[in-house]
Amino acid sequence: MDTSKSLSTQDLLGVARETFADQFGGIPSVEAHAPGRVELLGNHTDYNGGLVMASAINRETVVVGRPIPGRGALVHAVAFDASDTFLVDRVEQTEPGSWTRYVRGVCWALGERFGGLTSGFEAVFVGNVPLGGGLSSSASLQAAWARFLIGAGIVPRTGSLTGLDSSDPALHDQARMDIAQALRRSENAFVEVGSGLLDQFSAMFGAANQALTLDCLTLKHGLVPLGEHAPAIVVCDSGTSRRLADGMYDRRVAECQRVVDFFRSRIAVEGELMLRHIPLADLQANWDALDPVGRKRARHVLTENERVSQGAEALRNGDLTRFGQLISASHASSRDDFENSSPALDALIEAAAEAPGFLGGKLSGAGWAGCTVNLVKAEQAADFGAALARGYHKRTGLNTVVHVCHAAEGASARQVD
Ligand code: ADP
Ligand code: MG
Repeated sequence: MDTSKSLSTQDLLGVARETFADQFGGIPSVEAHAPGRVELLGNHTDYNGGLVMASAINRETVVVGRPIPGRGALVHAVAFDASDTFLVDRVEQTEPGSWTRYVRGVCWALGERFGGLTSGFEAVFVGNVPLGGGLSSSASLQAAWARFLIGAGIVPRTGSLTGLDSSDPALHDQARMDIAQALRRSENAFVEVGSGLLDQFSAMFGAANQALTLDCLTLKHGLVPLGEHAPAIVVCDSGTSRRLADGMYDRRVAECQRVVDFFRSRIAVEGELMLRHIPLADLQANWDALDPVGRKRARHVLTENERVSQGAEALRNGDLTRFGQLISASHASSRDDFENSSPALDALIEAAAEAPGFLGGKLSGAGWAGCTVNLVKAEQAADFGAALARGYHKRTGLNTVVHVCHAAEGASARQVD
């Protein structure tokens, strides 16, 4: 886990500025931030062309810095008390798994997409999204870096980026979507981690007290209100690391693909066939002929797509009870069909269900370890956290770290006067 997890969101900027003064002297000219996210519904649907519902949360990464003459990039990571230097014209990969790959990858992908970087820079970054906990610290880092680079003019505002701060919603949307897609490409092609668009989309499009929906095939997206008395989003860290499950994500991608391969000669669509195109009824009709592992994975993905649509409808009707039930149904489907839960995550959900104020809960992100996300009546969030911690310890002997969060704004940057 990261060394900075005890920092409050208000503290982050102060720490970033102080570290900048220590490392480089003076004050930064641009300050940027971007949130982590929880996935509320739509688990492992994104790379299957499906539907997701997420929320950006008030845990974030902050980047502060300034452009400098020349072509050198000087970067300092507070979390690791470590620095990296490279040339903006020749961004080379570092060793796999290193934080430097994420930062360099953003420079590489935005440079490639928007016509090269205009100058070198010096910058510091720090965050309080738990690293590797399923809250997408990686996309939070990426989006904060993107907003810093654009805000400082290091990535020129060419093409769709001219619309980034536009009051025209269509231009504003297009700019943010293009950035999200460039960041996804960075994660896939430069960091070399297979992932869908959900994380970068959420970090770029977050909105206070709103859930986000995304159709990963058409990229149609929207906001759904969490209501006037918005529930707390309580994230519980199981204290277990996903490293044990290395390779499982890619395996699930391949298992889903096997079902798509089965239907390729049976279902015709315009463009490439994806799991989301296959009706649940067709899956059920071909159940016995299908690969016994793949068919369960597919059932999870297809029922998740339905839960996203039903969840959006429940929120529009102000029905948080129904919405919570759908979240809990998502966890059961992950546990039984997608098999990306773990005894620790299941224990967290069981303990949550007995705690006061609980509306629904599920694992978040890839799964196998990391965090769960719970929807909790706001006024009972503190009691909920305490009861859950007791229940989890009783079941597993493990301690959980509880983060009481709310839905927050997406990435932004500001010039320092
Ligand atoms: P998740 O996105 O679920 O948190 P990932 O494995 O995708 O997990 O990304 C975590 C990685 O992102 C870390 O191991 C680190 O390399 C990088 N990272 C994210 N936030 C920071 C930060 N504040 N400082 C340094 N590295 C970070
Ligand atoms: Mg990530």
